[in-house]
Amino acid sequence: MNHPPVLVVNAGSSSLKVKLLPHNLSLLVERIGGDTQIKAGFATSVRSDGIGDHEGAFKLCLTALAERVPLASIVAVGHRVVHGGERYTRPTHLTPPVIAQIEALSPLAPLHNPPNLAGIRAALQLLPEVPQVAVFDTAFHSTVPAWAYLYGLPRRYYREAGVRRYGFHGTSHDYVTRQAAQLLNRPRSELRLISLHLGNGTSAAAVQFGRSVDTSMGFTPLEGLLMGTRSGDIDAGVLLYLLRSGMSVDELDQLLNKRSGLLGLSGVSNDMRDVRRAAAAGDQAASDAIAVFSYRIRKIIGAYAAAMGGLDGVIFTAGIGENDPELRAQALEGLEFLGIALDPDKNARGERLISRAGAGVAVMVIPTDEERMIAEATLEALASV
Ligand code: ADP
Repeated sequence: MNHPPVLVVNAGSSSLKVKLLPHNLSLLVERIGGDTQIKAGFATSVRSDGIGDHEGAFKLCLTALAERVPLASIVAVGHRVVHGGERYTRPTHLTPPVIAQIEALSPLAPLHNPPNLAGIRAALQLLPEVPQVAVFDTAFHSTVPAWAYLYGLPRRYYREAGVRRYGFHGTSHDYVTRQAAQLLNRPRSELRLISLHLGNGTSAAAVQFGRSVDTSMGFTPLEGLLMGTRSGDIDAGVLLYLLRSGMSVDELDQLLNKRSGLLGLSGVSNDMRDVRRAAAAGDQAASDAIAVFSYRIRKIIGAYAAAMGGLDGVIFTAGIGENDPELRAQALEGLEFLGIALDPDKNARGERLISRAGAGVAVMVIPTDEERMIAEATLEALASV
């Protein structure tokens, strides 16, 4: 990849990740407003004391980058923005009205859009001459049909309050399915693919002929597969039961988002490596947690093959998907009837194509690269302004 310098920004509530591409210079500022730490993928003498906000953190990153690359050479800034609602279906040049719209979407993503906006404001303040683009996590899923995104609630909750499935991780699902098509040497527009993004957050997407037609995360990133600390799918009746038995809304929020998933079920950790070690040592709760994690993936592969009327490829990506051959094998167990057959050696080695020669469905391991995708989308958006 060779293009003019683009700075990719991913701002979280107390963190700021920036990466300058194609140089691959990345910086991570953590615990903004507290005991701030900076981690640079390259040596830097920059000090992190006294960083109170995202603007301070951004300034720090720019100072560090300036040691290596003239800042004036940066042609664009691409921001990861989690929620684009129904309005933003493509990467979008950030103008004041667009920023106001992203702000108006904040109630849909209260944990994500406000910090994303803080990153945007910091970048506009410190690089005012450089064009900025928002790349939305939801955008790739804008092609999901109504029957897949509507919940079974009275229609007005969708019409008036925007309650529907939006889906997330879109940049990653888009990127790995493009890469998969390249690997298979076939146009994506001819392929029915299932992308499995298995990191701390996990989601699946059914990508039929290049378009997302279903995805497992919903109105928020809490729905769907089991995650590191999030419950994924759960009977809404359980929430009513817990509320009625005296749990507060904030406690319930914490329970579902921070104390559930692999961590909650295993009682060990949210990190698959720790859960696996415990399971290997005979911990039943840890093996159950892995079994739930892989069963949900297996079930969704069947569901999405049905949704697309067939299946050409399955892609594993992100921390667990890229690094855990045992999990890949467990998730695919019993799916031979769909044409899925793993080559155990290729799987163990983590090769790109891990299905057996001649199998009907290609199974792939494709490292995700959201920053690269954001950089490319940013340049494309500006070229079409
Ligand atoms: P995020 O969703 O935060 O971007 P990552 O995609 O980096 O997360 O995935 C993080 C998760 O990947 C960790 O919590 C860990 O469970 C898992 N992981 C990383 N390496 C391995 C490995 N070798 N085996 C199993 N799981 C791994």
